[in-house]
Amino acid sequence: MALQLRPNCEYCDKDLPANATQARICSYECTFCADCVASKLGNVCPNCGGGFAPRPIRPAHEWRPGVSLAKQPASTKRVHLSYGLDDIAAHSARIRDIAPEKR
Ligand SMILES: [Zn+2]
Ligand SMILES: [Zn+2]
Repeated sequence: MALQLRPNCEYCDKDLPANATQARICSYECTFCADCVASKLGNVCPNCGGGFAPRPIRPAHEWRPGVSLAKQPASTKRVHLSYGLDDIAAHSARIRDIAPEKR
């Protein structure tokens, strides 16, 4: 099963196409832009409390049979925050200083 390439930042709703270098994901594939991860989230996922890594770019070219962006297209289902902004700020504040491997 391929990674879901979600089309937007869950926080600010900015478009994050499959080739966006600004996309960040958590281990559950929650997707945000680099700006929100740094300035709003303190590298804490508002949904799971884990950290983020840059989302890899799926190759547009089919270098190997059956694997490319055309074969496993990006998701078109936009995702929006499940929590209020105050809740998210408090969540980030209590987790952000814990080392990622201990969260
Ligand atoms: Zn954003
Ligand atoms: Zn998450």
